[in-house]
Amino acid sequence: MKKYVTHPKCIAIGECGLDYFRLPEDEKEKEEELAIQKDIFIKQIEFAKEVKKPLIVHVRNASNDSKKILLDYNAGDVGGVLHCFNADEQLLTLAKHNFYFGIGGVLTFKNARKLIQVFPKIPKEKIIIETDGPYLTPHPHRGKRNEPFYTTLVASKISELLEISVEEVEEFTTKNAKTLFKEFSNIN
Ligand SMILES: [Zn+2]
Repeated sequence: MKKYVTHPKCIAIGECGLDYFRLPEDEKEKEEELAIQKDIFIKQIEFAKEVKKPLIVHVRNASNDSKKILLDYNAGDVGGVLHCFNADEQLLTLAKHNFYFGIGGVLTFKNARKLIQVFPKIPKEKIIIETDGPYLTPHPHRGKRNEPFYTTLVASKISELLEISVEEVEEFTTKNAKTLFKEFSNIN
């Protein structure tokens, strides 16, 4: 992996992380699966630090363990993005450790109450817009295949929530993405 990952076009490690959404029902199998997921996640963090690239982190039903591992293993040395931020407030502390929050189509959903509530608490300089394509297509195209151009709908929703112009949203989210990824790449 190292040969590919150290290539300048590789700008991050991931996505990696913990996903406890579908765990085996059998207790013993479940314990084994949790141990494997954590072990691999830790190895990926160490690897990212070794090659000095930020992490793209997936967290589903696993906020406690994810936060603990990211802090215990100093993932903040390289930082990264919590992709499709799950709106769990306890993860906001990671903003102080070089982590950004990936905001996608979910913010535009009618039932996104939790994310809308937590959203203003994310420091502006840590917000990044993402697609998660082909999934999580913003309202009113929900259900269709997601494409990058739909991110304009996420930007509009952010502008509405923060009561600022869309141009301003585009400006600071682009700047944030560049800050996070640019120093690790040759991409302008
Ligand atoms: Zn994911």
